[in-house]
Amino acid sequence: MRIRANCANEPVWKECNAHFKLPNELKILDEIVHNIWWSWNYEVMELFAFIDKELWNRVEGNPVLFLQSLPFSRLEAITKDSSLMESIKMLYSTFEDYMNEPYNKNIPSIAYFSMEYGLSHVLKIYSGGLGILAGDYIKEASDIRADLTAIGFLYRYGYFTQSLSIDGQQIANYEAQHFDQLPIRQVMDKNDQPLVLDVFYNSFVVYSYVWVVNVGRIKLYLLDTDLEQNSEWDRCITSRLYGGSKEDRLKQEYLLGVGGIMLLNKLGIKKQLYHCNEGHAALINAQRLVDYIQNSKLTFNQALEVIRASALYTCHTPVPAGHDYFEENLFRKYMDHFPDKLGISWQDFMDMGRTNPGSQEEFSMSVFALNTCQEANGVSKLHGTVSKRMFAPLWKGYYPQELHVGYVTNGVHMPTWAASEWRRCYEKHFDQSFYKDQSNIKTWGKIYQVEDEEIWNIRTTLKKRLVNYIKDSFKDNWLKNQGDPSKVVSILDRIDSNALLIGFGRRFATYKRAHLLFTNLDRLAKILNNPYYPVQFIFTGKAHPADGGGQDLIKRIVDISRRSEFLGKIIFLENYDMRLAKRLISGVDIWLNTPTRPLEASGTSGQKAEMNGVLNFSVLDGWWYEGYREGAGWALTDKCTYENNEFQDQLDAATIYSLLENEIIPLYYAKNSKGYSVGWIQYIKKSIAQIAPYYTTKRMFDDYIERYYNNLANRSEKLKRDNFSKAKELAAWKEEVADHWSEIEVVSINYDEGIFNQGIEVGSAISMDMVIDKHDLRADLGLEIVQLREDGVGEESITIEAGTLEKVEGSKLYFTVKLPVSHPGTIKYGVRIHPFNKDLPHRMDFAYVKWVHI
Ligand SMILES: *Cc1c(COP(=O)(O)O)cnc(C)c1O
Repeated sequence: MRIRANCANEPVWKECNAHFKLPNELKILDEIVHNIWWSWNYEVMELFAFIDKELWNRVEGNPVLFLQSLPFSRLEAITKDSSLMESIKMLYSTFEDYMNEPYNKNIPSIAYFSMEYGLSHVLKIYSGGLGILAGDYIKEASDIRADLTAIGFLYRYGYFTQSLSIDGQQIANYEAQHFDQLPIRQVMDKNDQPLVLDVFYNSFVVYSYVWVVNVGRIKLYLLDTDLEQNSEWDRCITSRLYGGSKEDRLKQEYLLGVGGIMLLNKLGIKKQLYHCNEGHAALINAQRLVDYIQNSKLTFNQALEVIRASALYTCHTPVPAGHDYFEENLFRKYMDHFPDKLGISWQDFMDMGRTNPGSQEEFSMSVFALNTCQEANGVSKLHGTVSKRMFAPLWKGYYPQELHVGYVTNGVHMPTWAASEWRRCYEKHFDQSFYKDQSNIKTWGKIYQVEDEEIWNIRTTLKKRLVNYIKDSFKDNWLKNQGDPSKVVSILDRIDSNALLIGFGRRFATYKRAHLLFTNLDRLAKILNNPYYPVQFIFTGKAHPADGGGQDLIKRIVDISRRSEFLGKIIFLENYDMRLAKRLISGVDIWLNTPTRPLEASGTSGQKAEMNGVLNFSVLDGWWYEGYREGAGWALTDKCTYENNEFQDQLDAATIYSLLENEIIPLYYAKNSKGYSVGWIQYIKKSIAQIAPYYTTKRMFDDYIERYYNNLANRSEKLKRDNFSKAKELAAWKEEVADHWSEIEVVSINYDEGIFNQGIEVGSAISMDMVIDKHDLRADLGLEIVQLREDGVGEESITIEAGTLEKVEGSKLYFTVKLPVSHPGTIKYGVRIHPFNKDLPHRMDFAYVKWVHI
């Protein structure tokens, strides 16, 4: 018989679930990996890399997945390794000590709302700057022991992963996140069943699961609508970040705002303050109004006083087009049930989102935020000014300079963004109290005492690490996507950690002008191909899938990078995320930023660079406008020379080339016998000493406390006391003013008519007496004279002098007012009346203004 060499039937499979189990001794590790605290404590990451470096790399630095991927036998072996167990216990005790510190009761408690949070590359619930700012901010809240609860979304697909086609086209891949492999936990109800939040959407209910991320001491709750109870459409509400239609966006913002407040109610969480990170969450205030009206039996006007006094809106967008608007019919589809609950008309409700009430404008989330938050701020000094101008049309009686809109410049969470080498250096040379007192400029000044060589060694280590990271992580991808393998190999060979490395990483929106560097390719090629002074550029960034212009830019850069003269000199790295950002921002020598002014509200990547001794070379826009110091980085002038963008771009490009040729490259290559440039290290030291301390989230959080949180907490407490008596009093006062405002009558105006014929001398003053009859209006009035002046360079400035109330006779008020004349030329002035009440936080809170016919 001939024997068959093969004999097998079909395999028979059965499946059952093996539950993840840790030996008891390692339960503490499970607690640690489920707290994002690990993302800013490098000892944790070093521990995992020590346990199994290969696995740690394979799970891409995800500690939860790492733990789940270790075989049980390996876990048991760890428990038998006494020195390893000792390290784990030490780590846990550091963690415990951190967690056990009580809240700082002097900081008002805060509910914080944001569409995205960038906490770690592992948790894909962020797209870029806005999210990373929110993530950094809540980490800081934990560090400074603030009692803050944050609300956001758990996106199934998050933001896209970027790859490139052979011809440099961006490919956006949406990969589903496996929630069980993430540092999150599902919130359960008392019966240990998944907690479900139900939110009424006008004609149907949307159900959400709730997840929690521990961010040190802070809890971040994430809503997730991917439940079977929801319709197919509603399951997708939390599918993607910034995908979908206007309607999808509205449904998301409804969930974040209305749902966010309902969730806090359900969890029994009460805070003193409500902070909207960008206008997306503004509808929190619609729901808060409903709550006060229903539970505390307040009228709409009274409730508005209460919720306004405890709300802050932070705007991150410098142009009106960047804000969310919703067309009335769409808005009504979801919000129709609100006016009834609020006791106002649909028209009144719509008008709360309109710059011009009574018009046909779409509903603007920012306008609604401004009308329902007592305070509002921009995110850098320059952006504060820009925001005042942008929002000025809301308060027509006042000039942009007078508005209450302020600013807090963004910062970065230093322990997250400073490489461990730098942190060790700071820990060694700065005070022990350094982390708790990070915004103390004196501490950072100690960098001047650190040996130049030590600084250079850190820089070299980090540059090498970046280059190795690029070689290791991108090779396979490039071989797959870039066609010619010999080209790929030669790119990889040419990347050189000894070259002057210049990094550019950000969203590819056209205003960021990533193309600027490529304005004159011949000149650029000369700079890059100098054999004695090698320079290399590393680009990275995603373009929004709907932004064709941004994608074209990426393609253009990729095309250029593949030309022979730029091969290995200009490198584009796919999929800019927090992990790549951390490597890049610490591993280059210079961080380049070339936005069109004033479109960069703040920007934070350059601040991350500062924490790593990387020098900024940037347009004086956003944070750099206030951060730049001579001898600690480079700036492109803030003067806009040309109206024409193309000319301006050419001028800016020429400035970049010439600064590179004449200052930057010579300074970098002025190397001494030990192989480094003393001048360059001097720049690094100065930037660490004089720039870095101002751009930590510690400084930022302190600013929020000092400029907003304390005042809001005090005032809102005052309004709520004794069953809301002050809020009721203020609402009644405003109602009275509104009822009788039109009755104000100017009875007489007296002034020296001579000034019209003969003019007036500089140094004297225009004086007037005025009699105003309030008739039935009881409120106090203030009167002021306003002078409007062009300052010669096209800027309008105003001067304001308050009038004096000389006497009151019945309903008649006798005012005198004086305007000192300080400059020759035409004087343009007017007189205006406003209602006065010392309990108003500022004029914009109740912006009634009557200009007088003088
Ligand atoms: C910091 C960061 C940003 C924001 O940087 P900008 O300077 O605001 O452009 C965007 N994406 C990632 C991955 C970041 O780490």
